[in-house]
Amino acid sequence: MKNQLDHATIRLDTTIIPGGYWGGLIAKGQYLRIIDLDGQQAVDFLCYDAHNPKNRYNAANTIKIAGNIYLNKGSILWSEAADHLATITDDTCGLHDTIYGCCSKEVNMVRYGEAAPACRENFLAALKKYNLGARDIVSNVNFFMNVSVGPNGELTICEGLSKPGDYVELRAERDLITVLSNCPQKFNPCSGFNPSPVRVLIYSLKE
Ligand SMILES: [Zn+2]
Repeated sequence: MKNQLDHATIRLDTTIIPGGYWGGLIAKGQYLRIIDLDGQQAVDFLCYDAHNPKNRYNAANTIKIAGNIYLNKGSILWSEAADHLATITDDTCGLHDTIYGCCSKEVNMVRYGEAAPACRENFLAALKKYNLGARDIVSNVNFFMNVSVGPNGELTICEGLSKPGDYVELRAERDLITVLSNCPQKFNPCSGFNPSPVRVLIYSLKE
């Protein structure tokens, strides 16, 4: 672990088991780093203005303001009211998905004939302590998920690009409620067909 972590005050350092979830507050100016420990592991992510959760991450605004469906270093996560929620300040993977949404037991049943554990249920569990629920789940970010778009709009979930130890780092531009699901999906390549742990760090930089 290099660079600005040498000058950071660590607020949280935790490992999320395969298929697990996490939710927490990140104060304005603090950083969140998600580390894909074994590589090729999708992490589904949502964030909300902590003081007004209705002002939440908005995928369409994020895509249209950037003019791009992929996230990487320098990308901004925009809210429903076009406020700047977070900035991707570092990224060693280079490509993250905004369009594919999360897996759910219901969609797993339709696509794969089995209601296997899924990110939507993880989001619901993580949101509960903030009194948020199903109506607060919107189209989410999929960190480390590689979705390609063909010339006629064909979508393919491709093998993940992240190598063991790759990370993405965000700076909160407002106080945020954040939730993430370490995707339990085993029927497509988003988790390398073998869900693996990720590490989550929250830190602030010393003045
Ligand atoms: Zn999932």
